[in-house]
Amino acid sequence: MTSTEAAPSPSARSGAPTGDVIVAVDVGATKMAVGLVTMQGELVDRDKFTVDHDLHADTLFAMLTDLIESQVERARGHHRLRPVAVGVGSAGPITPNTEMVSPLNIHAWRNFPLRERLATATSLPVYGDLDAKALALAEGWLGAAQGRQSFLAMVVSTGVGGGIVLNGQLLDGAAGNAGHVGHIIVEPNGRRCVCGARGCLEAEASGTAIEAITGRPPTEPTYEIMQRTGRLVGRAVASVCNLLDLDLVVVGGSVALGFGATFFNSAQEALDEHTKLAFSRGARITPVRLGDRGPLIGAGAVAVRGIHRARRASAAQRAVDASE
Ligand SMILES: [Zn+2]
Repeated sequence: MTSTEAAPSPSARSGAPTGDVIVAVDVGATKMAVGLVTMQGELVDRDKFTVDHDLHADTLFAMLTDLIESQVERARGHHRLRPVAVGVGSAGPITPNTEMVSPLNIHAWRNFPLRERLATATSLPVYGDLDAKALALAEGWLGAAQGRQSFLAMVVSTGVGGGIVLNGQLLDGAAGNAGHVGHIIVEPNGRRCVCGARGCLEAEASGTAIEAITGRPPTEPTYEIMQRTGRLVGRAVASVCNLLDLDLVVVGGSVALGFGATFFNSAQEALDEHTKLAFSRGARITPVRLGDRGPLIGAGAVAVRGIHRARRASAAQRAVDASE
């Protein structure tokens, strides 16, 4: 089950590669996507498949590498671009740089050594991070938080995730999992969460939770459920704004975007109600601007960041060597 979306490439006519491109990989709970992202953040090609939850770890990985190979071929052939790195945005939890990934909703992958397997499969450097952190990089780079030094970016979809940029830096935390806004408690005696706790935002407001609570898919919401979901998200992010001195929250994901204005108005109301400190009052919650391109552009941004870090590290090493 794949679909291809190809933007015409101005450089596709002839000859040698005309630029570098990142092979961007989005590992999600319901689908995996692979695309080509230029160093300027333009998504020039993409393809995806639906995750079959009955597959074994290696079979699932083989489906992913098939898709990567076909995008690498399109990069070289159709687009005349040179793949220089793989960027990964993965559902969590993960260990730093996606060395090990254990996406809560992909049971086949537990401590799956994603970075190493991708590096072996592609012979390219691989840089990875959490999907929601990748989205934060994308929205800060080219989206609704462009030019902002501090903000929260989050996804309300099958699950709920987030990434925090503070003073221009994407927060990592001790193990790289900073920003798990989905596990802020919004209902003290609420539903049991997949993480084991009760009343997490994810257990009350994710697509999975909405379906379990209402018996209807989140694509067929009632007005009440759209309002409730917005209110709970607003309540959760108010705590984040108060904690971290933030005044902007950008939200993507199929549930939030699908619920539209009803969701965002309810979220803003709850946010207003719970941000009364001088610095957090007036915090805004707004939709992502990159739409469904965000996750892949974010995976691309992770690789661009990784390439820059690697260059800085080798320049610093050369300086040390020269001074010895
Ligand atoms: Zn939880």
